Amino acid sequence: MRDKSKKIFVAGHKGLVGSAIVKVCKDNGYSNILTRTREELNLTNASAVEEFFKKERPQYVFIAAAKVGGIHANSTYPVQFLLDNLKIECNLIESSAKYEAEKVLFLGSSCIYPRLAPQPLKEEYLLTGLLEPTNEAYAISKIAGIKLCRAYYRQYGKNFISVMPCNLYGPNDNYHPTESHVLPALIRRFHFAKLNNDKEVVVWGTGKPLREFLYSLDCAEACLFLMENCDASEIGEFINIGSGREYPIASLVEYVKKTVGYQGNIVFDHTKPDGTPRKVMDISRITALGWRPKFSLEDGLALAYEDFLKKM
Ligand code: GDP
Repeated sequence: MRDKSKKIFVAGHKGLVGSAIVKVCKDNGYSNILTRTREELNLTNASAVEEFFKKERPQYVFIAAAKVGGIHANSTYPVQFLLDNLKIECNLIESSAKYEAEKVLFLGSSCIYPRLAPQPLKEEYLLTGLLEPTNEAYAISKIAGIKLCRAYYRQYGKNFISVMPCNLYGPNDNYHPTESHVLPALIRRFHFAKLNNDKEVVVWGTGKPLREFLYSLDCAEACLFLMENCDASEIGEFINIGSGREYPIASLVEYVKKTVGYQGNIVFDHTKPDGTPRKVMDISRITALGWRPKFSLEDGLALAYEDFLKKM
């Protein structure tokens, strides 16, 4: 993708990862970036997506559009998580093939790995065990997307690749109080607890699960790096993207508390699920290719909180 005038479609450009991919592409001199809002193009509608590809014929496609959510949303709406995500990815991948996109990058998630897989998670652990039940629907949809990209490569030689990022955060995150992921949920909760002088903040689960966090712009840089430099023949089925650093939820809570400047106490609600006990990626394959994350958790958190404050 070295020609900076090639037409790039970023599906999901308003979301956490899509907006970061648009920014990183622009910052790197790409000038022909195509985006569509949900109102302009419903990605779950096969004929609308096909019409769009037929007319626009994007050469590079980033699939960052998905129905996403945290542990509560995932386990409460399995139908929507399966149906919407399967439709979105099938429509985009099939139309990319039919209208001859040169390359596709499909974004998955680290929840595709078996719940009790050895850690750190290596790419070859996919489908070696049972999934975590709280996000099984989402994981199954993402595994289907990876397999579809790989099938297009094996059967038709298409340069369609997939990436599996760890838990991401940054500008344009979803700060919904109950449906978001842990990091944006905590930013919101600590912020309002500070404003209201609340004596305590409730955190879900035991605080013991281990999670890895990556700032969205780091993930977007990794995606552009792979789009520019690495083909399906080299990457294999998919490649992990992460920071390689894991934190117990209880430590993340302390970081967010400090960033927001909240002074009160923390209470862990043991009636809420912990989810998978540990989820840290092995990032040796992508780092061997030459990519490295740039943002520390402290720096990324400060920027994420700044973004949250702008939107309040
Ligand atoms: P996961 O990585 O797929 O489990 O997704 P989440 O980001 O939703 O949750 C990560 C961990 O943070 C789980 O152990 C949750 O129980 C815990 N957690 C603590 N407080 C919260 C919260 O307010 N929202 C969410 N989503 N998770 C929380």
